[in-house]
Amino acid sequence: MTRIFYDEDVPPHALEGETVAVLGYGIQGRAQALTLRDSGVNVIVGNRVDKYSHLAKDDGFAVHDLGEAAERGTVLLLLIPDELQAPVYETVVKRRLRRGKALVFAHGFAVHYKLIEPPRDVDVLLLAPRMPGHYLRGRYLDGWGVPAFVGVHHDATGRAWMRLLGLARALGITRCAAIETTFATETELDHFSEHVTYPLIFHALEIAFETLIQEGYPPEIALMELHGSGELGQILGAAADEGLFEMLETHASPACKAGIAHHWDQAVGSSQDVRTRMLEALQAIRSGEFARHLVDQQSKGYPELREWKKNRSELLSDAEESLRDWLRGPTASRYA
Ligand code: NDP
Repeated sequence: MTRIFYDEDVPPHALEGETVAVLGYGIQGRAQALTLRDSGVNVIVGNRVDKYSHLAKDDGFAVHDLGEAAERGTVLLLLIPDELQAPVYETVVKRRLRRGKALVFAHGFAVHYKLIEPPRDVDVLLLAPRMPGHYLRGRYLDGWGVPAFVGVHHDATGRAWMRLLGLARALGITRCAAIETTFATETELDHFSEHVTYPLIFHALEIAFETLIQEGYPPEIALMELHGSGELGQILGAAADEGLFEMLETHASPACKAGIAHHWDQAVGSSQDVRTRMLEALQAIRSGEFARHLVDQQSKGYPELREWKKNRSELLSDAEESLRDWLRGPTASRYA
């Protein structure tokens, strides 16, 4: 049975005596470092000297190079891009991982695909928020938290769960839910969204935009109707709260619901084709084929990603820029 942890499940003083070293001060690193500190945790930051380290200093942290922070920390949060973790681990972190320390990942990738194989005398933990860093931070400041997947890959000290849940509570995660899973499941599901659901939705939005422009609608007006107003984001948020289809009862007019029902079967082409493509993507994830591709792409400077970016609709980004100028008030994502 799936175990779910909340604030009341976390032992008191779970992080007493620990120094948490946040290695990397990017999207998750900054959000987690600030939030842990606000919860009273002793936090240091590791980063090379550049804009990230300057930001961490401006935020009031003691900033060291990665090696020094890994040396000083007892709990190390490896918060740098996944495909770079293995070389950084090998060259900088590994020799500082003394017996009894904990190594914590925000995504299971490097451990699941055995790019990193930590020694048996350290705790290896997964604390994977299901939200980008600024939401983790924003929700904590609002008095609650984001959900996360948590897991223990290896408990060397007998304190692995206590440390993990101590971190989860300090990040506000156990105010919402820390849901137990494995590194494998977290990694494979995360990639499934990135390889299947996101491209399906984003590509459909791009095609819809291009179709409307070709049919003579003004770009900003067309965009406003698609995702530019923030309505779509709100509706997806409501789907999480109320249910994908139940939400329609509180958000959609009869005409909207009738339109969805009328076009449902044609919307993504043959559902058998879609299922087959989804299973192919899942197979590439499970076999490690995509992991190898990602590491290879990183080593070459992400040529496929650069090519893809070049081919995206300029008209769409121009319209997005104009629409942002048109709309006053907080951005849509503030409330999504
Ligand atoms: P970012 O891309 O924001 O990380 C940037 C940080 O990584 C900077 O501190 C940067 O410093 C450092 N970095 C980049 N390259 C190197 C390198 N070669 N050597 C050392 N440091 C490097 O990462 P994210 O915060 O997006 O992701 C961190 C982890 O969190 C990943 O495991 C990711 O899967 C996970 N995660 C991310 C989420 C998100 O919100 N983005 C959501 C949930 C999990 P510098 O360039 O100065 O070296």
